[in-house]
Amino acid sequence: MITEDEVRNALAQILQPRRADERMTTMGAGSDDLEPARRYLASTVEGGWAVPSWPRPFGGRDAEPAEVQTINRVLREFAVPDLYAYMIGLGMCGPALLAHGTEEQQRIWLRPIASGAEIWCQMFSEPEAGSDLANLALRAERDGDEWILDGQKVWTSRAVWAKWGLLLARTDPEVPKHAGLTMFAIDMFAPGVEVRPLVQMNGDGHFSEVFLTGARTPDAWRIGDVGAGWKVAMTVLAHERASAGTNRGGGDGGGKGARTPGWIRDLAGRGVLTEAAARQRAMKLHARDAAAGWQAERASAARQPGPAGSGAKIHKTVSFQGRTQLVKDSYGAEGMLADHDGHVEFMTGPSMSIRGGTDEIQRNILGERVLGLPSEPRVDRDVPWSTARKGEFR
Ligand SMILES: Cc1cc2nc3c(=O)[nH]c(=O)nc-3n(C[C@H](O)[C@H](O)[C@H](O)COP(=O)(O)OP(=O)(O)OC[C@H]3O[C@@H](n4cnc5c(N)ncnc54)[C@H](O)[C@@H]3O)c2cc1C
Repeated sequence: MITEDEVRNALAQILQPRRADERMTTMGAGSDDLEPARRYLASTVEGGWAVPSWPRPFGGRDAEPAEVQTINRVLREFAVPDLYAYMIGLGMCGPALLAHGTEEQQRIWLRPIASGAEIWCQMFSEPEAGSDLANLALRAERDGDEWILDGQKVWTSRAVWAKWGLLLARTDPEVPKHAGLTMFAIDMFAPGVEVRPLVQMNGDGHFSEVFLTGARTPDAWRIGDVGAGWKVAMTVLAHERASAGTNRGGGDGGGKGARTPGWIRDLAGRGVLTEAAARQRAMKLHARDAAAGWQAERASAARQPGPAGSGAKIHKTVSFQGRTQLVKDSYGAEGMLADHDGHVEFMTGPSMSIRGGTDEIQRNILGERVLGLPSEPRVDRDVPWSTARKGEFR
């Protein structure tokens, strides 16, 4: 198994050490610059450092889970940029293609994801299908070797940058809702695909509405069997939740041997942590963050992350929101200014409770799958989707 020193020596050839004062960037908040992450991925693809568990031909290094953890630990010592724009490909679509894609699909799509050459987005949510994702209505109808796509997606993160979209569509309305779904890849520049950016309250325009009007995608780009889209979607979402608990990309400012995250060092440097109450808040949040990291590691060690990813996501959300609140509070009245330090992160905090499945949905998953509590009533589970009541207002 590869040692920390071997990883460190190899990475030192291609990456700069992380500066101790480097600030954490989070989920692309406040940044539209795709280049630093593209350069980083291009430089790490030969060694397979960005996606070590992937097979070598696709930009990985066939690493076992323990090696992946070693590599991720050492990567925190280096200047890893915020990988936000690329994370749907690296953290969600790539693993789903490895699990469900054909050899040809893996060959054409995986390496450009690992090298940063192509960005992917995930097109699941619709105006009437978020938490109840299986209720989605975007239609895919077969036409020879192609599928014709009609409908609307919403909240599609990175759609403005993406070359490829992973699209969950309804292929059979006459069976129960989960059974009538199929997963496709689509070319985001194909005729009939229109991306309309939406602005979030933190000022970012990274997510969009996407309208598909008679757009076509070949059957060769179907991922998994017809009617098996839900299974593929669950793989994608489990990886999303697990990766939400990590500090991958952007890091936490910890250099070699540094145990204190950058945000705590910042607060300490400004004298905020001389107060016992602030110190206790900071340490509680740090403990949550550490728990999220360990749970995320456990989830990704399973290769097919399960409900541990939901636990990791909840911890990470609480620690992120708590930290941005603590930073705001520490500036007093000055912190109310919109151009103030930490404001973008503060305004990003609430979205953490929604993206990738809301806190309530994560708790439902943990309740049902970990604690064995009775499941929610699901009255539409066994009836054809076309006859079930959909949305509040129909
Ligand atoms: C920043 C951001 C990025 C996103 N990126 C993407 C993306 O790239 N691709 C994509 O497909 N989607 C994306 N989403 C959409 C996201 O997955 C959905 O917003 C989320 O699943 C919730 O769906 P909804 O907004 O329709 O809310 P609803 O499902 O309408 O939920 C409304 C409220 O009801 C609660 N609720 C609903 N059902 C239950 C239940 N059974 N039990 C308890 N409470 C319940 C919810 O917790 C929530 O508080 C993104 C969202 C955000 C905020």
